[in-house]
Amino acid sequence: MTNRYRIETLAVHAGHAVDGGTGAVTEAIQLSTTFERDVDGGYERGYMYGRNRNPNRSSLESALAALEGGAACAAFSSGVAAATSIFQGLAPGDHVIAPRDGYYGTSNVLRHLFAKWGIATSFVDMTQLDAVRASLTPSTRIVWIETPSNPLLRCVDIAGLAELAHAHGARAVADNTFASPIIQQPLALGCDLVTYSTTKYLGGRGDVLGGVVICRADDEHFAQIRAAQVFGGAVPSPFDCWLLMRSLSTLPYRMQAHCSNAQQLAQFLEASPLVAAVHYPGLESSPFHAVAKRQMSRFGGMLSFELKGGKEAAMALAANVGLFTRATSFGSVESLIEHHASIAGPHSTAPQGLLRVSAGIEHIDDLVDDLASALSRLPRGDAA
Ligand SMILES: *Cc1c(COP(=O)(O)O)cnc(C)c1O
Repeated sequence: MTNRYRIETLAVHAGHAVDGGTGAVTEAIQLSTTFERDVDGGYERGYMYGRNRNPNRSSLESALAALEGGAACAAFSSGVAAATSIFQGLAPGDHVIAPRDGYYGTSNVLRHLFAKWGIATSFVDMTQLDAVRASLTPSTRIVWIETPSNPLLRCVDIAGLAELAHAHGARAVADNTFASPIIQQPLALGCDLVTYSTTKYLGGRGDVLGGVVICRADDEHFAQIRAAQVFGGAVPSPFDCWLLMRSLSTLPYRMQAHCSNAQQLAQFLEASPLVAAVHYPGLESSPFHAVAKRQMSRFGGMLSFELKGGKEAAMALAANVGLFTRATSFGSVESLIEHHASIAGPHSTAPQGLLRVSAGIEHIDDLVDDLASALSRLPRGDAA
């Protein structure tokens, strides 16, 4: 499906077709793991074995390639498997530049799996283009971009980083999970690959684990990623692909609600005397507002804030809320709150007094009332 359609239309139609055999408007779930050979031994119909290719996966991949304006897409069984496939396309001796505050699971893969296969990573503060420039070596193959970052919602200049990477013969890869293709399009900003954990906004219900990689050009690095998918076998189930297709159709409208609620929660928290700092790129007070405004159409559904009372106040607030669920992950219809430092491991940049919020799509007044009531029940003295 071509990009003359707007994203709301693509979200409903891309990858969908009426079934030629039955007339079914909604795609069936194709569970068969094996497919009939033609009499000449070939596979004219395109499907041979479920690990290689499956109709539900093909639909999902073409929908996401269209939404992103990319040439092709490969779907995986988790976001981390998708990220891993990108590094599996590298060779020993290659070098990666990744953000110091990148997603914990991705840095785990780099530190614990790829380091011993001879792929070195420099973890850099990517808000500083000079720091990235200084870390580039002749072996650098990938500049890994995550913006907004987790959990401090720091934003980096995607176009600037892509240009820098290309000037040094490296590829720019964006993990766009925090933003979604609805509000930020890294391929259009110059990146070569974009990856998502579809577990988050794309799935949107907290009931599917998955990931995808979408490429700007179906080149030899993408062929390696496809090989990691098909030979490596970390593929999503037909049912998970079907669930994701169902979710994608409402993604543009869900994102509007997530973004609007997050913006209003950030403004409410910024006005509270118990709150020391609010991290949200949609706030004019954010040091990342200008860069975010250049490359995002809205500012996303994630925010974090720090309580003046530190860890104790943060834990107490998370215990006091009624509507927000204390849980990790994000991007689902229900609002979540988490004390990030306790789950994010030793390399985390999360302050102890920080709570991360995934704004759901509930009514904003109910969310604000719940936080206001929880804040009012914090032990006295936490405003000190
Ligand atoms: C969750 C997440 C991932 C990993 O995805 P899984 O589906 O949990 O494997 C990668 N990147 C970011 C930014 C994430 O939030």
